[in-house]
Amino acid sequence: MVEIRVTFEDGASERFPTGTTARDALVAHARNGGGDRKRVERAIAARVEAERATVVDLSRPLVADCRVVPVAPESPEGLDVIRHSTAHLMAQAVKRLFPETEITIGPVIENGFYYDFKRAGGFAAEDLPRIEDTMRAIVKEDLPVTREEVPRDEAVRRFREMGEHYKVEIIASLPEDTVSLYRQGEFVDLCRGPHVPSTGRIPAFRLTSIAGAYWRGDAKNEQLQRIYGTAWANAKDLEAYLKRLEEAKLRDHRRLGQVLDLFSLDPIAPGSPFFHPKGAIVYNTLVAFIRGLYARYGYTEVITPLIYKTELYKRSGHYDAFHHDMFLMSIEEDEYGVKPMNCPGHCHLFASRKHSYRDLPIRYADFSRLHRFEPSGTLAGLTRVRSMAQDDAHIYCTPEQVDTELENFVAMTREVYSAFGFDDIAVTLQTRPEKFLGRIELWEAAEAALGRALERAGFAVTVLHGEGAFYGPKIGFDFRDVLERSWTLATVQIDCAMPERFALRYVTPEGTEATPVMIHRAVLGSLERFIAILLEHTGGKLPLWLSPVQVRVLPVSEKAADYAARVAAACRAGHLRAEADLRNEKLGYKVREAEVEKVPVVVVVGEREAAAGTVAPRTAGAAQAALPLETFVAQTVDAARMPGGAL
Ligand SMILES: [Zn+2]
Ligand SMILES: [Zn+2]
Repeated sequence: MVEIRVTFEDGASERFPTGTTARDALVAHARNGGGDRKRVERAIAARVEAERATVVDLSRPLVADCRVVPVAPESPEGLDVIRHSTAHLMAQAVKRLFPETEITIGPVIENGFYYDFKRAGGFAAEDLPRIEDTMRAIVKEDLPVTREEVPRDEAVRRFREMGEHYKVEIIASLPEDTVSLYRQGEFVDLCRGPHVPSTGRIPAFRLTSIAGAYWRGDAKNEQLQRIYGTAWANAKDLEAYLKRLEEAKLRDHRRLGQVLDLFSLDPIAPGSPFFHPKGAIVYNTLVAFIRGLYARYGYTEVITPLIYKTELYKRSGHYDAFHHDMFLMSIEEDEYGVKPMNCPGHCHLFASRKHSYRDLPIRYADFSRLHRFEPSGTLAGLTRVRSMAQDDAHIYCTPEQVDTELENFVAMTREVYSAFGFDDIAVTLQTRPEKFLGRIELWEAAEAALGRALERAGFAVTVLHGEGAFYGPKIGFDFRDVLERSWTLATVQIDCAMPERFALRYVTPEGTEATPVMIHRAVLGSLERFIAILLEHTGGKLPLWLSPVQVRVLPVSEKAADYAARVAAACRAGHLRAEADLRNEKLGYKVREAEVEKVPVVVVVGEREAAAGTVAPRTAGAAQAALPLETFVAQTVDAARMPGGAL
């Protein structure tokens, strides 16, 4: 009998007859005193490591020497298996309830799965609980999930008999001669697997929504119905996820953008937001905040063209790497492109003047609008747009100045993050990718400089090998928001290509010419994306200095209306954004509306306050003692001061 050698997690190995299943090997080893018996019992699949590591069914026969590891339900691999198995479970339930439905595909997605069905009349929200009930019944039946390999033609014949025309089309287009089918009870699906051993091993799930979809994702094809679901290793994780989902819906910046009247998107300009008056205040105030820091950190602002002849991007290297993502046009026999980033224009500007080492560092800052083509299907609110602006700047300096420049950048980033209370930060260093521009020596020096800067700043750093931009290595500052999502905000890159491609020069103290170092950096990143993240992180409760309406004054009655208007005017005289709500509505209604709109300071004034010339502000819903009007204005002006000390 042919034997194979199987190694286990504890490092021990045993011999087994070829064809022993992964489960039998794990169980035997546990019985012989090796491995954790509980872990083996809880396993829902196995990871088999030979030349490659693959997750397989516990019932998969082992045919070569390998290492076998039990896959726990709550591990990332285990969750994938559970989610895919739940997709099959849902399809089985749908077929039991609505036998005329045809099944198509059902992949795993982040946190869950979906399955696309073809059913005349589609599904309604009321169908979901019924489908879930049937799914639970099938879990109770604890049907074994079995794998079978059949010739492709045989599989085609079987699915044709079942009336599953979409499956027939998929199988017929596969290159393999043999395909694998998974069966649980009466339900059979084409699938590579792996799956849980039986339906009883699917722990916790919920169907979340219904959407339209197209066969093979193509809008020219037939419309299908997609049902989304989520599945987890236990009920507690499921509940926690559903809570996060609910919270995320409430905090969705697209919803808040509407409620707070900040911005909108329109098919007339896909992915290009319209900022409404209040949104424009948030946007411009962020720019003013960064401008205030620029004054202190020695940046100078430039204003550069939006549209260039494409020879600029050919020179910078962006045309080759990026032209599919650019808006190009042809005018007077020349090809032009709307700029997707500021760097090439800044290099061109730098090259247009002679520079001495005494001029360096030169720090060009630019809030220019940028345009990048993103396919319509990928656009999402303010986080994935075609039109954006960044707090972008490029620093040109001598090699000796690089360390100080990076140090200043880290200091500025820290100052900005602390102004927003962003304290959960992770830092990555992204190194030379396979496809890169520029000389290796420059890359090595640049990576070393970035590494030194992070070390001096005392950050724990994750190195992402090969993930730098094509023109230079990069540091990313990832902020984790209240929903535990990670966003890269600030970035800094040392450019190993553009200074040479643009033949940038400065005169050294010795009178010779040298190439300056170029640093790309942004702190907020794209303003659009930053606003989206800030809205979701704060749930729309922006800090006072950034709030579009900082103070709203509500009169108790008609009789206090004049005084309310006077209070608002006094606030505006102190440069506060203040308004009096003099509409003929009930006070309670106005208070609630101010809460929904997240107005940070709400002041209710009546005849008593009018007579005394006082104000009793309510901060965060709680009323405070009455103050003289001037004191109230002075205190609020103080509290609303922009961080960073801008004038
Ligand atoms: Zn499957
Ligand atoms: Zn740049």
